[in-house]
Amino acid sequence: MLKVNNLVAEIDGKQILKGLNLEVKPGEVHAIMGPNGAGKSTLASVIAGKEDYEVTEGTIELEGEDISELAPEERAHEGIFLSFQYPVEIPGVTVTNFIKTAINETRKAKGLEDMPAKDMLNKIREKSNLLNIDRKFLSRSLNEGFSGGEKKRNEIFQMAMLEPKLAILDETDSGLDIDALKVVANGVNKLKSEDNAFIIITHYQRLLDYIIPDFVHVLHDGKIVKTGDASLALELEAKGYDWIKEELVS
Ligand code: ADP
Ligand code: MG
Repeated sequence: MLKVNNLVAEIDGKQILKGLNLEVKPGEVHAIMGPNGAGKSTLASVIAGKEDYEVTEGTIELEGEDISELAPEERAHEGIFLSFQYPVEIPGVTVTNFIKTAINETRKAKGLEDMPAKDMLNKIREKSNLLNIDRKFLSRSLNEGFSGGEKKRNEIFQMAMLEPKLAILDETDSGLDIDALKVVANGVNKLKSEDNAFIIITHYQRLLDYIIPDFVHVLHDGKIVKTGDASLALELEAKGYDWIKEELVS
């Protein structure tokens, strides 16, 4: 699904990712943890193609195709979804209209016609039922006055509708309350399949009480320095990150 090889990336001339390797196969959930400033959000942004970052070495392959040179929207059309850490409010544009536009943009990029209204409606019905999303919520203005949990509900709904191959959720700084956390976890658990994959970036172990990752990686100083199973997250919760830094020095 995703293969990141020796990725080196910088912002404003400062090197942040320093030779990072990561392989994600279909059906897998990977958690990326690590201290503040390690480069977790940078990794998410670079995979999604945000233009502030410059990739100076390495490759990013999605299903065998190097996507390093593609624009963010092209990567989205190829099936990469990145959660919005700072969601924009769009008064007058409903949750439903926003996703209709997004889906039809993707179809247009693939040379397809707009999705017929009936199909769209069925899809909205199917996904909102799956995620227990209220009809009233779907007709609200995008992110306007949304609580933390509602922002996450919208994000998970967008993800369900777009059906990405690879979803990257960067939950580091968002200060998720328990409601928001359960929305995210429930969404991921319902949407994961043998055909898609998730990268969950999180500073805290508690999200991983609800989403059991297949792999946990520790990102430190621009590289993945340790990989384990779900138990590694518990070990990090109990012991912090210092022991990993010490292992690296010795
Ligand atoms: P994390 O998500 O792991 O906390 P980030 O990827 O956000 O880490 O940041 C990694 C490093 O990149 C930090 O040292 C941060 O200060 C630096 N950084 C992020 N954005 C910029 C920027 N616009 N200019 C310079 N340095 C930046
Ligand atoms: Mg971050």
